[in-house]
Amino acid sequence: MIEPKPTHTSLSELGEFGLIDHLTSGIVIKQKSTVKGVGDDAAIIDNGNSYSLVSTDLLVEGVHFDLTYTPLKHLGYKAAVVNFSDIYAMNGTPKQITVGIAVSNRFSVEALEELYSGIYLACEKYNVDLVGGDTTSSKSGLFISITVIGTAEKQDVVYRNTANEHDLICVSGDLGSAYAGLLLLEREKAVFLADPNMQPDLEGYDYPIERQLKPEARKDIIALFNEHHIKPTSMIDISDGLASEIIHICKGSGKGCAIYEEKIPIDISTMNLCDSVNIDPTTAALNGGEDYELLFTISQKDYDIIKGFLEVCVVGHITDESYGINLISRSGQSVPITAQGWDALRKD
Ligand code: ADP
Ligand code: MG
Repeated sequence: MIEPKPTHTSLSELGEFGLIDHLTSGIVIKQKSTVKGVGDDAAIIDNGNSYSLVSTDLLVEGVHFDLTYTPLKHLGYKAAVVNFSDIYAMNGTPKQITVGIAVSNRFSVEALEELYSGIYLACEKYNVDLVGGDTTSSKSGLFISITVIGTAEKQDVVYRNTANEHDLICVSGDLGSAYAGLLLLEREKAVFLADPNMQPDLEGYDYPIERQLKPEARKDIIALFNEHHIKPTSMIDISDGLASEIIHICKGSGKGCAIYEEKIPIDISTMNLCDSVNIDPTTAALNGGEDYELLFTISQKDYDIIKGFLEVCVVGHITDESYGINLISRSGQSVPITAQGWDALRKD
């Protein structure tokens, strides 16, 4: 007997990126002003003299944040900052945001004031205006959707699909801390739920906890590029882990790469924390996420400038496509990099 063709495909078959591709690959651009649609950290719209950049992020309670250990002020701050990060990842400057929220009557006015105090603090720090939004009710949990609008000079925009063979691969700051911080907060939550008399033991781990609860976007690195007149050949922000992001750069550019495990920057207290929560620090850096650092490639001629940037490490180089996307382990073994990251819809 011939099995009928199933009419419902499960989301887990496609995964998050497969689903986005499936839903958007048929788009035909109608407007001359649409320079870049789906597929980068932000869309690009031509304004005549300069480009506008637009990006949206949606945060869902129980999926992206847990109010047991996330102060609402921090949540508001983070929701804004992660959007700014996508604009910096295009080598642009965030200028305005709109904020959509869906709230249940479980929240008081004071609670939402706290959320907004965090959003306003981020806007103050990054010099961004809140210019609108939408408010509605929710039957299950809190939703926050922020859209950011930024600008860039046309010649300054950096895409994720334009890396060249022999370029150096660079990372700002350090990686894996936000994920290690999350594991610690989850562990202490479980301890507290088992025995509410137990106080959380977070001693010595301020840095990874801050990286999880109150991340920053790398405005300073974009300012350095500007100051030293260097333009990365490609760039993306690290929201889903180094593995997922380098795959976006390499696949988009039709290239391969070698990343050296020993060169991946990891903070000391994060290493200690990884020991304590039983996770390999390299795994946290590759497959954790939410570090909001910048991953970018530069031409070798710019190495002398980049090596003066204290907050930037060279972690590898771009190769031709046939080499594949590889991690060179501390023992010198070459291991293909696969993305686990936060591909939210994929079955493990
Ligand atoms: P990032 O991690 O930088 O925030 P995403 O992985 O969320 O980027 O999205 C990748 C690309 O897909 C972006 O260009 C984004 O605008 C687009 N995209 C994501 N979800 C949708 C959707 N539901 N409909 C249309 N485009 C989407
Ligand atoms: Mg991004």
